[in-house]
Amino acid sequence: MSVVVQKYGGSSLAGVERLRAVADRVAQSRSRNDRVVVVVSAMGDTTDELTALAHQLNEDPPSREMDMLLSTGETVTAPLLAMALAARGVDAVSLTGMQAGIRTSGAHRSARIVDIVPQRIVDHLSAGHVVIVAGFQGVSEQLDVTTLGRGGSDTTAVALAVVLHADQCEIFTDVAGIHSADPRVVGDARPVASIDYDEMLELASAGATVLHPRAVEIGAAYSMPIRVRSAFVDGPGTLIGRQHHMEDLPKVRGIAHETDVAKVTLLGVPDRPGIAAAVFGPLGSAHINVDIIVQNVSHSGHTDLSFTLAESDLNRARPVLDRVVASVGADGYDADRDIAKVTVVGAGILGTPGVVARIFEALAGELINIKMISTGEIRVTCIIERSRVEDAVRALHHTFELDLL
Ligand code: ASP
Ligand code: MG
Repeated sequence: MSVVVQKYGGSSLAGVERLRAVADRVAQSRSRNDRVVVVVSAMGDTTDELTALAHQLNEDPPSREMDMLLSTGETVTAPLLAMALAARGVDAVSLTGMQAGIRTSGAHRSARIVDIVPQRIVDHLSAGHVVIVAGFQGVSEQLDVTTLGRGGSDTTAVALAVVLHADQCEIFTDVAGIHSADPRVVGDARPVASIDYDEMLELASAGATVLHPRAVEIGAAYSMPIRVRSAFVDGPGTLIGRQHHMEDLPKVRGIAHETDVAKVTLLGVPDRPGIAAAVFGPLGSAHINVDIIVQNVSHSGHTDLSFTLAESDLNRARPVLDRVVASVGADGYDADRDIAKVTVVGAGILGTPGVVARIFEALAGELINIKMISTGEIRVTCIIERSRVEDAVRALHHTFELDLL
């Protein structure tokens, strides 16, 4: 018997009215399907508010306690939705991540799902109950509550869809699907009807926040179709799945951008083997992700080494960078916060002559200076001045006629 897994995001659950609307939607699904599992996020901005509360008491709160705290957001939503369903005569039961059998690593605040033992869910489904699972949370081997990282409810939903052999995983959100660019920036951005996992992963990693990249990875690994759609208005949304087209697809699918970026340049780094390892090893150990790396040509045995990282990680990176500068004998480092990243995504971009040139022409036409470029098989990323990022997104969207798709 087929299982439907639906996930509702925080903005779709913000407040009693929206909870009621979600309950109506779930009740409708239940009337059409025997087995319905719902994954919920924390209501509205609850996770941000809890984080701010914690930081008032401790600048660097212990991760284990943060997980105990942040998990409560989802733990509140699940029973409320179950109650709203009960009020509609629908049998529903809420489960925490632990009760749902979601076992994770012990890496607090960014735990990975190790295994899901869904017996409890299956039993409730067999009894005809709608099962509501608190997203974003799991339990470690030590029975500590863990969380999967910000945006982790998407990961919960897709992972549950996989273990329950659902036909697809539906992600209900506050937009009508995956857009060709951020609709807040580009007025005529369109929801795309379907997109491949690889393209979605690039968009999600490049700043499209509708779906968490880890959820896309799980979907791709297990070929689980994911449909992103609006929680407020009916519509087909976007289907993320394997696309079986060879030549006929549009070369450019979407434009993503990200402003939480900073550029660090290590100055006067000696040019010898082992330097990159000595620079990036300590950053990795401090769990600081670096993105685009550019090493300049060396002059008289010294070179500049630039890379980007999240601006929100920059303060944490500074003491590490001070140590790196001393250990490799560099002259120092510069940090530039005034940058942003714009990424053009589409299967076959690099394999199609002319596409890359059109990207640079579009930016040149707006007199936007490109500070760094990085390419992948299906994307081109440019680092530009932050104040110009919205102009860049609009120009690229227009150049590739994404409003006409
Ligand atoms: N509530 C968590 C967050 O805001 C998880 C989620 O909504 O996916 O990041
Ligand atoms: Mg989200």
